[in-house]
Amino acid sequence: MKFFRNSSKGTSLSADVSPGRRSFLSYSATGAALAASGLGASTLLSSNTARAVSTRANIVIVGAGAAGISLAARLSRGLDGARITIIDSREVHYYQPGLTLVATGAWEPARVIDQNSRYMPSGVNWIKETVVEFDPDNNRVYTESGRGVDYDYLLVANGLRLDFDAIDGMDPSLIGSNGIGCVYDNPDHAGRTWQAIQRFIDSGGTGLFTRPPGAIKCAGAPLKVTMLTEHGLRQAGSRGNADIQYFESSQALFSQPDMNVFLKEHFPEDRDIAINWEHRLVGIDPGRREATFATSDGERTLDYDFIHVVPPMTAPDSVRNSALASDEAAFAGWLAVDRHTMQHTRYPNVFGAGDVVGTPIGKTAASVKAQVPVATENLISLIAGRGMRASYDGYTSCPLITERGRGILVEFDYELKMVPSFGFINPYEEHWVPWVMKDRMLHAAYNAMLRGRI
Ligand SMILES: Cc1cc2nc3c(=O)[nH]c(=O)nc-3n(C[C@H](O)[C@H](O)[C@H](O)COP(=O)(O)OP(=O)(O)OC[C@H]3O[C@@H](n4cnc5c(N)ncnc54)[C@H](O)[C@@H]3O)c2cc1C
Repeated sequence: MKFFRNSSKGTSLSADVSPGRRSFLSYSATGAALAASGLGASTLLSSNTARAVSTRANIVIVGAGAAGISLAARLSRGLDGARITIIDSREVHYYQPGLTLVATGAWEPARVIDQNSRYMPSGVNWIKETVVEFDPDNNRVYTESGRGVDYDYLLVANGLRLDFDAIDGMDPSLIGSNGIGCVYDNPDHAGRTWQAIQRFIDSGGTGLFTRPPGAIKCAGAPLKVTMLTEHGLRQAGSRGNADIQYFESSQALFSQPDMNVFLKEHFPEDRDIAINWEHRLVGIDPGRREATFATSDGERTLDYDFIHVVPPMTAPDSVRNSALASDEAAFAGWLAVDRHTMQHTRYPNVFGAGDVVGTPIGKTAASVKAQVPVATENLISLIAGRGMRASYDGYTSCPLITERGRGILVEFDYELKMVPSFGFINPYEEHWVPWVMKDRMLHAAYNAMLRGRI
């Protein structure tokens, strides 16, 4: 299906097609092609690698997720003689983009579970603790054991926090029981979400799908879970037994305007999914299977048979309660960085990448892929006494899966302009390629990103 049934509705097909842009998606295709041809992605890297900068700098990275490990990999190669320390108590690594496939039955949970030790660059000192306090005035962080760790340069990459407490009666341990699902928590809970969705597909009834206010990671995930559940019902021949309601806390389904237009038509017209605008989930009673929403007309309580709960998301408390947090209303609590250089706006020896940064868009692994080279290149320039030249344009992407086997490749930047990587895929049309990328290719690209190879 095409986004627009006639050209008077919004954007034409003249998006800025940039087949050569350095996107996560184009690298995934490159990586797959390289793998198929027997060349490693590292072959590509060696020809691009600049000479390492010699330094004795003491660098601390907080967080060993997608961004933290990629930062460590790139800095290890870009600097010669630096002391690099990474702090994170978590040893297990989740491939989070795969959680959507787990929660909708396409993948087993084990497929998204990995170990950080497989990707930790040699020579990097890993402190397996959690940072509880940032003290940027004294160039030090403190861990939960009370240990102070000094630095010359700090990279903040500790992701975000799922705020389940903001929903009265909700607790992540409920996921999988009483008709409650949530794609966002962890692989086990994503697997339990799929079991709850299967029960809903079998029994039918009312399915409520929520989206909280504020920035969330992979803003497409709540929409994908809704559409894949609807498709599951159709495939099972039980669509007529189910009423599907989507609850959007704002007045838009997606920040990218073309995508928003498409979904606003597609949900009610093609999928029979009712949209409830400005409804924020504030409470849940699992025993009674009731959900309460705050609306402009007061609270509204509805019965459900299945509910997809998406909690609000905030910066981790350690950042939110520190001098590193942004005081701009739009990014309150998130790490205050220059949206182009990824350097902290008040502490020049601090940089950030990943979900924790207060940028207008970009809480995706695809953004991590674009931000990390910028943060590392600018930090290396700072250490070398050169001007910072690398700039992040806000690139983000989402293979918006509309059905099992089909989707739309949504790629855009700070200007909310579609910036498709591939000339051969119409960015305004559902296609099998985004599904194949999501299902078969992006995981390998993600792992290559962790190793700093792309
Ligand atoms: C369901 C779902 C679907 C997604 N789909 C896509 C997709 O299709 N495409 C896409 O590009 N992206 C997708 N994403 C988003 C992507 O996975 C994230 O944007 C990306 O993982 C962010 O990387 P990060 O390093 O900032 O955070 P994370 O990878 O979450 O890592 C943060 C790390 O910081 C650590 N940490 C936290 N607090 C502290 C502390 N105080 N001290 C030390 N360490 C700490 C944590 O233990 C963790 O290891 C999806 C995410 C989810 C959940």
